[in-house]
Amino acid sequence: MKLNVDFSELFRAVAPLEYVVTEFVLDGGAGDLEGISRALNRGMILGEGINLNQIDGANGVLNYDGHQVMLYIPDQGDNAEAVLKNGKLGTRVHVAECSIIELMREKGRLKRYDVISRLDGSFPVFGYDAEGEVEGGTDLEACKNCLKILNYKGCNTQPESVNRQVFENFSFSQFFETYSSYFKSLPAKIAKSSTNYTDDWYSISSKLRNELDYKCEQCHVDLHSDKTLLHTLHINGNKANNKRANLKVLCADCLKKHPRRESVYVSNTEVLKINTLRREQKHFETVDYALLLKRVDMALYGLIHKCQYRKLPLPELGVVVMEKELPLMIDIAWPAQQIAVLVDMSKAKMLLKQGWSVYSAFDTLTYFDVFEERLITAINQHGS
Ligand SMILES: [Zn+2]
Ligand SMILES: [Zn+2]
Repeated sequence: MKLNVDFSELFRAVAPLEYVVTEFVLDGGAGDLEGISRALNRGMILGEGINLNQIDGANGVLNYDGHQVMLYIPDQGDNAEAVLKNGKLGTRVHVAECSIIELMREKGRLKRYDVISRLDGSFPVFGYDAEGEVEGGTDLEACKNCLKILNYKGCNTQPESVNRQVFENFSFSQFFETYSSYFKSLPAKIAKSSTNYTDDWYSISSKLRNELDYKCEQCHVDLHSDKTLLHTLHINGNKANNKRANLKVLCADCLKKHPRRESVYVSNTEVLKINTLRREQKHFETVDYALLLKRVDMALYGLIHKCQYRKLPLPELGVVVMEKELPLMIDIAWPAQQIAVLVDMSKAKMLLKQGWSVYSAFDTLTYFDVFEERLITAINQHGS
């Protein structure tokens, strides 16, 4: 059954939505991973050893050689003194392919931009005051346009009061975690987190997980088949407090989404594996948008918020298509219409071969009207 509808006319205007098989690889380049991480942590001057055309925004967020990066102007001019005291007064930090970045690509840069990648939200800036040059680190804010095009936390589809909250409570570390599925790791931490586990921690944790039958205490997924996906969290952050009330056994996905966890890297494959098991174990029997938002890969939050806002028929999680012996795990799918949205587009070719229509998450969000029309047409033609 071939479901690809010919929308060639329509798509001429919005070519990126119609999936063109590129050589996009989730892992990005190899290179000196550690060295690049360290350099990006300090900040690199755009145009000196790193160029704008090496920074890819195809997934919405900015990617340099497999690292998530931001772009900002470090020169605060005669405003520097004030900016050092209050980062809100400074230049904004771009975290996505917003119109300003697009303009820079078209017209070239007018000012010096730095490329940086760090979780702590502190940015090196410089400038001058009456006495001469000043420099230091300050908490600059993220560019709102960037957050809007990603519909970050639904900030473009929810009431104005909610949007304000999203901007006010924004943290770079949370932002990086949200989109970490597109990258091979989180940026290096500056201050090493205290790893003061007690000597008997391993046995305490494994005993507890065993007692709970390897089930997540949050989503109840059974991880007998893959125990490495189950973790034990110290709820109050104190790793010396191993009292039962301070411990929570969580699957990697629930851990990543837990408000009290430290920054944690969970890959897209791990989330997909967990959702495949949740589906097999019938945890998605009754599903609504609220549950979808709790279970989907965080990189798709913006898209799910948009689908909810536009009242699209619910997509499904945990759908797997077999390609010979290889399971192709799909982030979100409308299986009856064979429509898939993926974080990792390297699987797209194989799904296309099986008659599926495949979209990248960011293209779906960017060209949502076209996507919606295709989906509704497919539902009307083939039934839901
Ligand atoms: Zn921006
Ligand atoms: Zn869970």
